[in-house]
Amino acid sequence: MNDATRVIRAGLAPAAKGEEFLRGPVFAGAYHLEDDPEGSAFSYGRTNNPTWVGYENAISDLEHAAATVVFSSGIAAIAATLGVSLKPGDVVVMPSDGYYGSRVLANGFFSKFGVDVRFAPTSDDAQRELLKGARLLWLESPSNPGLDVCDIRLLAEAAHAEGALVAVDNSTPSPLGQKPLDLGADFNVSSDSKITTGHADLILGHVSVSDATWGGKLREWRARVGSAPGPMEVWLAHRSLATLDVRLRRQCGNALLIAEFLASRKDVHRLRYPGLPSDPAHEIASRQMKLFGPVVSFELASRKSAELFLRNCKLVYEATSFGGVHTTAERRARWGGDKISEGFIRLSVGCEDAQDLIHDFSEALDRAYSK
Ligand SMILES: *Cc1c(COP(=O)(O)O)cnc(C)c1O
Repeated sequence: MNDATRVIRAGLAPAAKGEEFLRGPVFAGAYHLEDDPEGSAFSYGRTNNPTWVGYENAISDLEHAAATVVFSSGIAAIAATLGVSLKPGDVVVMPSDGYYGSRVLANGFFSKFGVDVRFAPTSDDAQRELLKGARLLWLESPSNPGLDVCDIRLLAEAAHAEGALVAVDNSTPSPLGQKPLDLGADFNVSSDSKITTGHADLILGHVSVSDATWGGKLREWRARVGSAPGPMEVWLAHRSLATLDVRLRRQCGNALLIAEFLASRKDVHRLRYPGLPSDPAHEIASRQMKLFGPVVSFELASRKSAELFLRNCKLVYEATSFGGVHTTAERRARWGGDKISEGFIRLSVGCEDAQDLIHDFSEALDRAYSK
């Protein structure tokens, strides 16, 4: 079965007369629990919830996973993965150009508990050089925001040969864009606040694993730490899955057209989109990605020109986050923490009409440079 079909029914109970397709959210802090609680699937709202189970089953289906655990945010999913796999004295090898929040979490917090954090860039599979003695290899491909790509299969094999586990942050491609567990990863971690749900209206994350034993450990972490998601968010996420294929294909089609347009502009520099045949990452990306995603990055000459461009765009929300149906962009350096230029723009292409977007960008660029 193709993913476009699978997303429509993923995680739904079998059809039954008089029953809705997707059962509504179950709002429960507590469940009625007589006598010996042993054997009851649902005991307390922090520990389990039937709405979580439906969504987790759906995601496992899409990620080709043995188990999936949903968390209150992407960063909670990342913390759980680091938390269950690392102990004092262990080494984790992280991408120096990956998501800022993961780097801060590993280097600012887990290092305090005795974890040794090593960094190398995503490009040229440079993390491979640091694997000796490592317990966990953390990958992010394409990296956010620079959109460099590494060879996940090759790095996973090298890490396993050293006895290390492999986790991939798959937030940028989403479950339909790339399947890290099929490429050899042990953990597939994702922020579902982005493409997977796609409407910029909730915060959620998940971890999918190839060995169900890790699923149990992640569930225990969620219950102990309390990174439990709200049933409404999980239900909205499950509802949004049905349109994931339609949304993402439209976004990727638009992103390619816009990348081609940006490539034709003399005032746009260092354009990156893994779907562009001229992109340095295109060859590896084509081998391991099914869809190249909605995120495009580029540089304008200065902070001023980037700010003017964003102010002049009429169809772009200036927002941090990506992957939604609305086109968004931001001058990434306004946050600090990434090795990027002042004029660096991260653009996330939405589901609008591509020609309308190109017209808008074209006018906004002309006006940014005429001032
Ligand atoms: C947004 C993001 C996260 C964090 O997810 P939240 O849902 O915001 O907690 C982690 N990794 C990547 C690559 C992201 O883009």
